[in-house]
Amino acid sequence: MEKSESGQVASELEEVVKSLPSDAVNHLFSLGLCVRCIFRVFGVEATTVYAAASPSLSHSIFPSIVAQQHQPTDDKQLCTLCLGILQFRFHRNDNNNNNDVPLLISQMVKREGYHCDSFSLEVSIPPIILHNDNYLRSYMKIKYGSQPWFQDTCISTKDALKFSLLDPLQNLLECKSSVGSLRIRLTYTASKEADKFSDNADTSKRRKTDECNLVGQKSISSSLESESSDCCKFLLEMANEPCHFTYLCCRTPIYFGGRYLKYSRNVSQTRWIIDDERMGEASVEEIIGGNILQVCQADSFKFHAAGREDIDVRMLGPGRPFLVEVQNARQVPSELFVKNIEKKINTMENKLVRVKNLKLVGSHGWDLMREGEAEKQKQYAALVWISRPLTDEDFQHVSSVKDLKVLQRTPIRVLHRRSPLEREKIIHWMKIETIAGSSQYFLLHLCTQAGTYIKEFVHGDLGRTHPSVGSMFGCRAEILQLDVTDIKMECFLT
Ligand SMILES: [Zn+2]
Repeated sequence: MEKSESGQVASELEEVVKSLPSDAVNHLFSLGLCVRCIFRVFGVEATTVYAAASPSLSHSIFPSIVAQQHQPTDDKQLCTLCLGILQFRFHRNDNNNNNDVPLLISQMVKREGYHCDSFSLEVSIPPIILHNDNYLRSYMKIKYGSQPWFQDTCISTKDALKFSLLDPLQNLLECKSSVGSLRIRLTYTASKEADKFSDNADTSKRRKTDECNLVGQKSISSSLESESSDCCKFLLEMANEPCHFTYLCCRTPIYFGGRYLKYSRNVSQTRWIIDDERMGEASVEEIIGGNILQVCQADSFKFHAAGREDIDVRMLGPGRPFLVEVQNARQVPSELFVKNIEKKINTMENKLVRVKNLKLVGSHGWDLMREGEAEKQKQYAALVWISRPLTDEDFQHVSSVKDLKVLQRTPIRVLHRRSPLEREKIIHWMKIETIAGSSQYFLLHLCTQAGTYIKEFVHGDLGRTHPSVGSMFGCRAEILQLDVTDIKMECFLT
């Protein structure tokens, strides 16, 4: 912190201290409140003041109080209102004696290897703290409600803790707090005893409210009166155990989108294991996701593609859109680095898979993906064999097809996992490409409605698909190889 800046904070602190009614401040100190709690009870909103009001400085912050009857709550005494949360006093499971909360957090972020360009702070505090606040507020209202300075604007312990931590954390982590993907989560839990107390307080409060409702308005103030005298007793009895404190850091999922091409007939889209045996030599999911995972130093990833193709079908043309959801990434790669991941995948020796347009997309990626999943049309290239030589009529027959309706009963090969149904699909167009020196082998290019079973459309599936290439030609037809060459989507991801 710059010297002039710290001087400014000091004078701001002085101003705030001066503005508070000293008799009330004195009384609150006598109830065992810490300096930050005193600030928040009076609704002080300046974040710098909270950050500057280090728990060990209470004597110097309120010098006028020291001379009086009550010593301000210092490090040795636990604050009766926040139970030590704003004093950075707590129990922890490790033996570390360091109580500098901002330092502890920044050390954790660095130790875990997080690249940090912004962070958000989430705080969870036990219900007893809220009870304490409510009791003190009603007490203040009764005792000081008629004073000209009185305002019922208590800052919550949660907000005061954030005020106390944000500035030092921003300095230590060298970045701003915002709604970023890096989340720092602080969790305070009360001791069992305190929890029990807050449960009791709950029931007694309910009982009192019921009584009030029965006997009318007049008794409300007397009930509050007794509640408020309970308050001091309540606060003082409670303040012997600091809360348990745990803190952790994680990154919300980040998403990579792009399109993939699959050049192998022995690579599945997702990892495919049957009875401990891997099907195919690799998977698109592992090749792409694994490379991204490594660069992001993340915990895990989920691969999601818009539609799928069989393991023995290549994915060519412009490729198939996919999304990789990366969990708890330590590093968020720059645009340049993302291009490097793409390059790395595309220069792999085995050349099984290639990616295009790999980029970081926002969390709306899933929505885009779901919309994009509605495949409309797909184009294929099929290597077909027929049981007799091709004729001119076959060419004419094939090229005359326009939006041909085909009825497909669920194919025999998938009957074990799909329910038996009859679906109508459309073959938009077909074209034959001959193979030099061969009359019984040819390439069939076809464009169909998404979801058409292409293999069955060629061989007929024992009459379960009708018409089929076999039935149109009046001979046996077999499909030897199949490639997806284009997918038309409702909505494009990239
Ligand atoms: Zn406090």
